[in-house]
Amino acid sequence: MEQAQIPEPEVKSNARTSLSFGAPTLNARVPEGPIQEKWDTHRFNMKLVNPANKRKYTIIMVGSGLAGSSAAASLAELGYNVECFCYQDSPRRAHSIAAQGGINAAKNYRNDGDNVYRLFYDTVKGGDYRSREANVYRLAQLSGNIIDQCVAQGVPFAREYSGLLDTRSFGGAQVSRTFYARGQTGQQLLLGAYQALSRQIGLGKVKMFPRTEMLDVVLVDGQARGIVVRDMVTGAVSSHVGDAVVLATGGYGNAFYLSTNAKGCNATAIWRAHRRGALFANPCYTQIHPTCIPVSGEHQSKLTLMSESLRNDGRVWVPKQAGDKRNPADIPESERDYYLERRYPSFGNLVPRDVASRAAKAICDAGYGVGPGSLGVYLDFADASKRLGTRAIRERYGNLFDMYDRITGEDPYKVPMRIYPAVHYTMGGLWVDYNLMSTIPGLYVIGEANFSDHGANRLGASALMQGLADGYFVLPYTIGDYLAQAKLTGVDEQHAAFREVEHDVQQRVSNLLAIDGKRTVDSFHRELGQLMWNNCGMGRNEQGLRQALEHIPQLREEFYGNVKVSGANEEINQSLEKAGRVADFLELSELMCIDALHRTESCGGHFREESQTPEGEALRDDEHFSYVAAWEFAGMDKRPVLHREALDFEYVHLAQRSYK
Ligand SMILES: Cc1cc2nc3c(=O)[nH]c(=O)nc-3n(C[C@H](O)[C@H](O)[C@H](O)COP(=O)(O)OP(=O)(O)OC[C@H]3O[C@@H](n4cnc5c(N)ncnc54)[C@H](O)[C@@H]3O)c2cc1C
Repeated sequence: MEQAQIPEPEVKSNARTSLSFGAPTLNARVPEGPIQEKWDTHRFNMKLVNPANKRKYTIIMVGSGLAGSSAAASLAELGYNVECFCYQDSPRRAHSIAAQGGINAAKNYRNDGDNVYRLFYDTVKGGDYRSREANVYRLAQLSGNIIDQCVAQGVPFAREYSGLLDTRSFGGAQVSRTFYARGQTGQQLLLGAYQALSRQIGLGKVKMFPRTEMLDVVLVDGQARGIVVRDMVTGAVSSHVGDAVVLATGGYGNAFYLSTNAKGCNATAIWRAHRRGALFANPCYTQIHPTCIPVSGEHQSKLTLMSESLRNDGRVWVPKQAGDKRNPADIPESERDYYLERRYPSFGNLVPRDVASRAAKAICDAGYGVGPGSLGVYLDFADASKRLGTRAIRERYGNLFDMYDRITGEDPYKVPMRIYPAVHYTMGGLWVDYNLMSTIPGLYVIGEANFSDHGANRLGASALMQGLADGYFVLPYTIGDYLAQAKLTGVDEQHAAFREVEHDVQQRVSNLLAIDGKRTVDSFHRELGQLMWNNCGMGRNEQGLRQALEHIPQLREEFYGNVKVSGANEEINQSLEKAGRVADFLELSELMCIDALHRTESCGGHFREESQTPEGEALRDDEHFSYVAAWEFAGMDKRPVLHREALDFEYVHLAQRSYK
């Protein structure tokens, strides 16, 4: 067979021509000085907008999940006018509401040796040394403020007997620093942020646009000045002008079709911004979460997470004998392999997600898996129930156990849960500098939508921390620095740039409706997802990635020739909404594979099968890949251009990650 013509990435001309470590081509604007002082120094050096002038500025906030709600409320509280958009009927339905297990903070309430530096260290190491040290340190510094802010809002975090906030442990840490509200932490945090947002809506400082989907960003004189949206009820396309635009639009794990994300999660906002010039960083870094309810059949359109918090008390095991079909209760202790405890005695069941996921896959691939298709491992609470009593287990995890029971028909108080890894989070996203600004001036990206502080693997309970740090504490400072200095010309919706983008959007919608083919949008999405899971999922290799890169453009071509989008534009039309999102996934997936192909090392959530240690752990190549890969869109059918931000590890020294 002839080898596929895969576009090799073009390397930015002023960068190195070989993939060796050298001068960066991207300036992250990290402040000078010791890491502990960078954020404070920066806050002092940033320009301020006079309180009386803040009301002259309008900020467009796309997204009202935890990142968007917290940012919109905080900016409005400061005096800015905010226009906030989401595609759900209420901010309360953002995907953030699904977050279960908790949120990290270096409060050291347990007196177990935690501090800001340890959280910083754990996060850099957990991310397999592919994150920006200065951002991670700031995140750890702000973590305590987030808890204080949320408690002040009335978020009902779990408390222990003395009344102090309770904590539990999450993977990749040997301290207990995860604050939680049963298995509904995201819901409670979102209600807190939503209250703050509602107050500002009531005061007229935030104008909320629910059921409104942003379909493009508009640049005037190279600056982000607004967005073009579609009203999802009437189909009307309109423009909104602002002085800065913030994307808080969440992650793109649904490129894989099956994931733990809410069905609506999509990449359109960031992908459209990418096409207008925002660099897309580390698109291939996907988090595969080890504890999800296994896929049960082809009918499925969604996967369900069982929170990592369960690994505090649940023990992971498989039968020692391959193909053992006995009932788990009939398998004696001596015939069970608690493989995480055996392989990683220091961290045991609480190894980071990438490590636990790979271990589960490896053991199932070797024939030891349990349940249908042998694609599952046990997560067993029998010991914890004996030690703590069923009541304590119910108090900690009751809602998760109920959810498991309802979905599988098995009672996890009586039989071990069966779990398997699934797509959960995307560490990649739009590249941002230390101020959270993308490569388009005036376009900020926060929460899961940016390429984030998590490097190649996110530690559990740190997405909520990052989204809320961005929204409550970072963006409100840094956006002012931009507004105070930017030269912004007066524009309105009639400006030629807006008219042009509106026209593009209308054209795209009409084109999708006009195809009138034979295949459903979902069938394309499902095929793309399977292709991505098989070739750019838990394990990737050159051959598989090249195959995927050959198939994706073919699938895209078929989509534009044969997709069936039923209904019309001027009505509620989920088929049309999905078609636009799948069209964007069909482009983004290609970039994910190009990124995965070029990174011939393994790191965190990116496991290149060609690059592993003799024990099967991820083997990094720091000499050649210690950088953020930020891709520039060069046009369809053109090679994306690779820009690199070199990563320096001044404080947490590069080492092979070990959790043994
Ligand atoms: C099941 C599950 C459990 C999790 N549990 C935890 C946990 O315990 N701890 C933890 O730290 N993390 C957890 N996470 C991860 C965490 O929940 C997410 O990373 C985080 O909530 C993302 O927040 P966000 O504000 O960035 O995005 P989201 O909450 O996804 O919000 C995105 C917003 O953008 C809007 N939007 C998107 N595109 C458009 C568009 N084109 N136009 C208009 N609006 C748009 C949406 O309407 C929404 O308002 C979990 C994730 C899952 C899937």
